Amino acid sequence: MADIFDVIVVGGGVVGCAVVWEMTSRGYRCLLLEKNENLISEASSGNSGMLHTGFDAPADSLELQCITYTFPRMFDVLQGFGLVYDKIGATMVAWTQEQASKLPLIAQRSKTAGISPTRELSVSELYSREPRLSRHAQGALWIPEETVVDPWLTAISFAHDARRKGAVIETDALVQNICKTDDQRVDVMTSRGQFTGNVVINCGGLYGDIVDKLAGLQHFSIAPKKGQYAIYPKKVKHLINSSILPIPTEKGKGEIIFKTVYGNVIIGPTFEESASRRRPESDSNTIQRLMRYGDSCVRGLGECPIVNTYTGLRPATETKDYWINSYPESCWITIGGIRSTGLSGSLGIADKVRNLIVNQHGLEPSRTKRTDLERIAIKFVPPSHAMLDDVTYTITHPITLSGIETRLDSQL
Ligand SMILES: Cc1cc2nc3c(=O)[nH]c(=O)nc-3n(C[C@H](O)[C@H](O)[C@H](O)COP(=O)(O)OP(=O)(O)OC[C@H]3O[C@@H](n4cnc5c(N)ncnc54)[C@H](O)[C@@H]3O)c2cc1C
Repeated sequence: MADIFDVIVVGGGVVGCAVVWEMTSRGYRCLLLEKNENLISEASSGNSGMLHTGFDAPADSLELQCITYTFPRMFDVLQGFGLVYDKIGATMVAWTQEQASKLPLIAQRSKTAGISPTRELSVSELYSREPRLSRHAQGALWIPEETVVDPWLTAISFAHDARRKGAVIETDALVQNICKTDDQRVDVMTSRGQFTGNVVINCGGLYGDIVDKLAGLQHFSIAPKKGQYAIYPKKVKHLINSSILPIPTEKGKGEIIFKTVYGNVIIGPTFEESASRRRPESDSNTIQRLMRYGDSCVRGLGECPIVNTYTGLRPATETKDYWINSYPESCWITIGGIRSTGLSGSLGIADKVRNLIVNQHGLEPSRTKRTDLERIAIKFVPPSHAMLDDVTYTITHPITLSGIETRLDSQL
């Protein structure tokens, strides 16, 4: 008889990797199926690499619950695996009086959410912390816990540790069809053959609605939102001391000027409609506008040429919140619409999946649990690979790629 997996995860973005890691650690026999040649190749390879505190997540949302769960636990994971991070903090700057009037409400919301002890800064305090900021600021909010991580390394480490603990990971495996069997299991047909599992978890991100349709489900549709970024070299890292945030709007956190864990300064992301689910090219008008914006906020930034640009697509749906639902009769769980905070909410999402598997699907693990956090031996192999222990992975995220690139910096 063919192998039967306890859990089959469709999609190797940060969400699928976190889910397969959590379920494998808890003793479930897991299979991860990813359609691309490399894991972390879609939405998860075009983000800002920030571990957000949820300062702008709507109260009572699933998103806030998942962020609140993830935030304290992620540091144990990062330290356990030996991954880089920097709790650099964020400074939300009001450039007009109208924006400044919104700061107390944002501070109050963040306090209610309970993660980050935000504090309003006077203008003079702002300039003593961020002396290179343009001189027309009207007020600011300090969000001390905002953290930057390596978004590729964090996500790939979940998959790698799951693999170390016995998970099977198949790439180039496009899930094409599914079929419920008579004995309450699911056959999953892929471009690499058929697999059978007790529960399928749809972590299809930008394609989540298409994957759901294979199970006859149609509760949301993905309308991707594009983000563009401009990357500066590490030599300008002294220009900012924290991530510089604008006042958030209905569309999200806005365009941020931030420093990666490797020291590159980045401006972005934009928030634009996208007609396609395929990663778009950046357009020079938008990049020029981002650079002008950066120059108008941080003195000296405009004097330095950028070294690269990149784009990402958010798996947005018609609603703002996450879509996490379980369909025991179909042996199916859907994780959809993880739009802007998938990295920051990843452990909370994975924990919700575990609860659904236990409480709604009644599925017990078939193996012994292994929740230990063992250090990963990481060696970058420029220009585009990394070895984690003895496994070589292709790096897919521009933050990591720019971070390990030294040639461009030394040329400038
Ligand atoms: C511009 C931008 C900035 C962001 N900034 C941040 C940030 O700073 N912090 C933060 O926490 N979040 C941020 N996010 C959000 C975060 O990146 C997303 O929430 C997250 O990447 C979603 O992950 P996912 O695994 O759901 O989707 P994806 O990364 O899209 O992964 C889904 C995977 O499923 C695979 N797949 C789909 N269909 C199939 C199929 N039929 N068969 C097999 N495989 C399939 C895909 O190939 C893909 O690899 C940002 C996003 C963007 C775009």
